[in-house]
Amino acid sequence: MKGQVFKIHSDFHYVKSADSADVFECKVREVLKKQKEKVLVGDFVQCADINNDRKTAVIEKILPRKNFLTRPSVANVEQAIIISSIKEPDLNFEQLNRYISFAKYYKIKTKLCFNKNDLSEDDSVIEKIFQIYEPLGFEIVFTSALEHFGIEDFVELLGSKITVICGNSGVGKSSLINSICPDLKIKTKEVSEKTSRGVHTTRHCEIIEIKHGRKPIKIIDTPGFSNLKFDFLMPNDVDEMFDEIKKYKSGCKFKDCLHIQEEGCNVLENIDEIDLSRYQSYLSFVQEAQEFKEKTKMQGTKKETSQKQTLNKNVAKISTKNREVSRSTFRQNIYKDLDV
Ligand code: GDP
Ligand code: ZN
Repeated sequence: MKGQVFKIHSDFHYVKSADSADVFECKVREVLKKQKEKVLVGDFVQCADINNDRKTAVIEKILPRKNFLTRPSVANVEQAIIISSIKEPDLNFEQLNRYISFAKYYKIKTKLCFNKNDLSEDDSVIEKIFQIYEPLGFEIVFTSALEHFGIEDFVELLGSKITVICGNSGVGKSSLINSICPDLKIKTKEVSEKTSRGVHTTRHCEIIEIKHGRKPIKIIDTPGFSNLKFDFLMPNDVDEMFDEIKKYKSGCKFKDCLHIQEEGCNVLENIDEIDLSRYQSYLSFVQEAQEFKEKTKMQGTKKETSQKQTLNKNVAKISTKNREVSRSTFRQNIYKDLDV
């Protein structure tokens, strides 16, 4: 039998069979346990119905994963929807770019939802959103969970794909989900009450199916990518998360170009084609990656040249200055900061 794990509680893995939609309570075969790979929620697995009861089974094999996330630990996520609020809290573009980049890193298709539309007084933020994110190919919806505006558009974004919902606390993630399925509110509350009773009970994530219209909506019940930093990848890999920067990098003179100050940088050559706030986010993430690199170097795992160390300082200097400046002034300032 093949199926997908949708919930894990201690040793029990709940698997929905691919052919019959029956649910099996499964344990993991000892041989598989000894291997490094842990079975995750979302994993497609091969099971043996050892008792022949169509209720219990043993997981024998994890089938190849399309992707997997850590925090929450989940495999085969089909898409991410990033929720931001337009106001209260104000839209944070860097945070949005952070979520976008994480989803990109994990090779997960991403869609954008901007909530609390009822609080938006002027259209300039909305225009900015379209200006930046539409050319990058994102599907965008505006919602108000409070006024039940755009909820059907949000439902359409969800489709029947297994979706991880991302977004900072307070943007309205729970409110949006509850506006689709008010029953879920009770369920979520029950779960949290249950877990708060135990002392630090590990909270496992689960794929929740919500009946809505013809097809079920499938969401992962814990927010994705919360409080994550780019402290796991090399500075040179950050541009891979930005399509509009990546597009120009092959024209850079140096293969290890960070697109900050380097001679013959084709990204800087085309900087007018890149949105300033996106480029600023890029710089911040490069800085985080630099800090990570420094740390690994201190631990003695990496060796770097002194030239690169100078560059690290420069990156830190630019991105701590949170200036609202025109693109050309911004560029001039980069050069000034970098003393080129
Ligand atoms: P979460 O932390 O992302 O799950 O956010 P919540 O769903 O808990 O919402 C945080 C706060 O924002 C709550 O007080 C909600 O009532 C409020 N809220 C959620 N959606 C909207 C909205 O569309 N408009 C307004 N004005 N408030 C909202
Ligand atoms: Zn470059």
